Amino acid sequence: MSELNQQYIVISGARENNLKNVSLRIPKRRITIFTGVSGSGKSSIVFDTIAAESTRLLNENFSMFVRNFLPRVPQPDTDAIENLSMAVIVDQKRLGGGSHSTMGTITDISPILRLLFSRVGQPFIGQANMFSFNDPQGMCPECNGIGRKLGVDTGKAVDLSKSLNEGAIMLPDYSVNSWEWNMVVQAGPFDPDKKLSDYSEDELEQLLFAKARKVQMDFAGKAMNITVEGVLEKFTNKYIKQDVKTKSERTQRAVAPYISEGPCSSCRGARLSQAALGCRINGLNIAELSSMEVGQLIRVIREIDDPVAAPIVKSITERLEHLVDIGLDYLTLDRETDTLSGGESQRVKMVKHLSGSLVDVTYIFDEPSVGLHPRDVHRLNELLQKLRDKGNTVIVVEHDPDVIKLADHIVDVGPHAGSRGGSIVYEGSFQGLLEADTLTGTHMKRSLQLKRDCRQPSGKLSIKDATLHNLQNVSVDIPTGVLTVVTGVAGSGKSTLINEVFLGRHPDAIVIDQSAVGVSTRSNPATYTGIMDDVRKAFASANKVNQGLFSFNSKGACENCQGLGVVYTDLAFLESVKLPCEVCGGRRFKEEVLSYKLNGKSIAEVLEMTVEQALDFFQLKEVVRKLQAMSDVGLNYVTLGQPLSTLSGGECQRIKLASELHKKGSIYVMDEPTTGLHMSDIGHLLAIMNRLVDAGNTVIVIEHNLDVISQADWIIDMGPDGGSRGGQVVFEGTPAQIIDAEHSITGKYLM
Ligand code: ADP
Ligand code: ADP
Ligand code: ZN
Ligand code: ZN
Repeated sequence: MSELNQQYIVISGARENNLKNVSLRIPKRRITIFTGVSGSGKSSIVFDTIAAESTRLLNENFSMFVRNFLPRVPQPDTDAIENLSMAVIVDQKRLGGGSHSTMGTITDISPILRLLFSRVGQPFIGQANMFSFNDPQGMCPECNGIGRKLGVDTGKAVDLSKSLNEGAIMLPDYSVNSWEWNMVVQAGPFDPDKKLSDYSEDELEQLLFAKARKVQMDFAGKAMNITVEGVLEKFTNKYIKQDVKTKSERTQRAVAPYISEGPCSSCRGARLSQAALGCRINGLNIAELSSMEVGQLIRVIREIDDPVAAPIVKSITERLEHLVDIGLDYLTLDRETDTLSGGESQRVKMVKHLSGSLVDVTYIFDEPSVGLHPRDVHRLNELLQKLRDKGNTVIVVEHDPDVIKLADHIVDVGPHAGSRGGSIVYEGSFQGLLEADTLTGTHMKRSLQLKRDCRQPSGKLSIKDATLHNLQNVSVDIPTGVLTVVTGVAGSGKSTLINEVFLGRHPDAIVIDQSAVGVSTRSNPATYTGIMDDVRKAFASANKVNQGLFSFNSKGACENCQGLGVVYTDLAFLESVKLPCEVCGGRRFKEEVLSYKLNGKSIAEVLEMTVEQALDFFQLKEVVRKLQAMSDVGLNYVTLGQPLSTLSGGECQRIKLASELHKKGSIYVMDEPTTGLHMSDIGHLLAIMNRLVDAGNTVIVIEHNLDVISQADWIIDMGPDGGSRGGQVVFEGTPAQIIDAEHSITGKYLM
């Protein structure tokens, strides 16, 4: 191989999915951006070919024994891939991990912080693991390091505005004049007509929290020694300290409403032992530092002036700076990772790699701009450049013009989607792209149009005094019957306001998000949208047979592959391979079933049709309506039988949208629906949103995309910044008004 070729990853004859024998060279140690309309084949090159081959090569380094435990990676359908270095895929899969995985643990900052406390904390208490809530030595013994515990929901158990006679105690068994109630009144003794809010602190303590004690009471003239304890104390001992699961189901149901999960009373949510919490640096303990926003934490850490700590301080600040650089300064180290959004997860993973010392790695990113406001995209760009400058090859799938601009090399895939895509339509510099006659080139040159004829709302839905997470007493009206876009920098509070506060009060709203659709490997667009039911009926009546035959989940399925169309074969000393089923040839049905035709096509041939082809083929009104909805959301290129598990997050979101399109008078909530969409697809998405609004629906969209924001009837801009510096509505109004709004960062980007 020539010296020149060594500087490129060379791919020849790639044919995965829709790729048409694609050959290309990707410069090493440079940033290459893949763009093109959705479904054109970007992921087929980047993930299904390049990343898949790298994973396969990596797995080959392991012994056969180990390989048996690794996921099976089939060889991609390509003639050759040369010069590939190890690939690291940084995607938007959420970081799972439960309550023991936090921002601090995942970025490796928490272990270093623990080391710091074990070296210079006052008083010195021992090894670094004494500061870990995942370690038996460090965890709070009350809650086992979870930080939360079950407790009585006092708001539901007692009503302070009432007297005992008025039924201030709302727990089961305490109705006025009941046995328990009488015991309480007598044990006090309390004035049964005094409102609890008028009790002295001492009386209230007695009534609710007093420990068990013997009291002499008078029952029908007879003195008896009775054990009494505070009402909440008793409830806690009976139903919370003992496992409530051991009680009868009826009792469990009766007490459940009065039990809620709250911060552990011993560690107050800090998760750590009292010894660990008593250890401080400059007056602050490790839990206090972990609950600070990164932006503030970095200042506190820098102030630690101790020669012993210097190298540790340096290492922590370096990592914290990476978090600030990527726009995550509003997060805290104790934030549980499974509460981070997809975009935030990807950026956290990115930081992990920046701190690492790997070089000559191929980094692959999937739309890293997701969740970032235009203001913060430059930070992402700087990060990608840092990775490149450390000597790595950076490959990015991206639609955002501001990221595409920074590429050393651009690959534009097209010209259209599915079978009408799969080729490379442009390769080269950004300047060259602007002159290229491709969909990307053309759209790059357009300028923003601000909507002027905004619709008048039909009414409003009010949010009052919201304070969840960082929201600072937000009261805002969301207009009905129009398209509202909620925007603002990352961490400003958009999701909190809409997905939590608003949806908490309007659970009947239709939520169109990017979570996976379909429950089984057999789900596909036809089954998901209900088209399959109509198609089965049509086949059955055309051939006068039972419609069950036409389901690959039942009788009609090929017996060899159980309707999957493929068989996995384990070869003793080779990679296990996925082969098309040799009985049905991948068509999933029995021979007999395939002999039944509808207008000359078998059921397998129908499932191989794209939405576009099926629209030409079917006349059935219901089928056409459902197909048209899929076509309208830009899924023309998808085949009816393509497994849903192969759809991207953005495609899943659009297929959900397609199956909800016919509703009227509903509230639709969408979270970044432009994810995965090329600039030229966004026009279609806007057309659908407008159609929904014209049909009498209310549409609320969380978005950073300027094309969408500029076409809103109403904009709610959150800010001014992320985290504690955000949480306010900085602007409400029309697109034409926002560009004059002094405090709106978003407005500056629409000019
Ligand atoms: P992009 O990343 O540009 O949006 P993809 O590479 O995901 O496009 O898809 C290109 C084409 O290949 C589309 O028609 C898509 O439906 C199809 N495709 C993708 N993955 C699979 C798969 N696992 N099986 C069958 N078809 C697929
Ligand atoms: P946006 O949607 O504008 O990016 P979010 O609503 O996700 O903003 O976040 C607003 C603030 O609330 C941020 O400081 C964020 O860290 C915090 N936050 C969001 N979700 C949670 C959660 N589950 N637990 C704790 N804090 C959260
Ligand atoms: Zn605790
Ligand atoms: Zn088969």
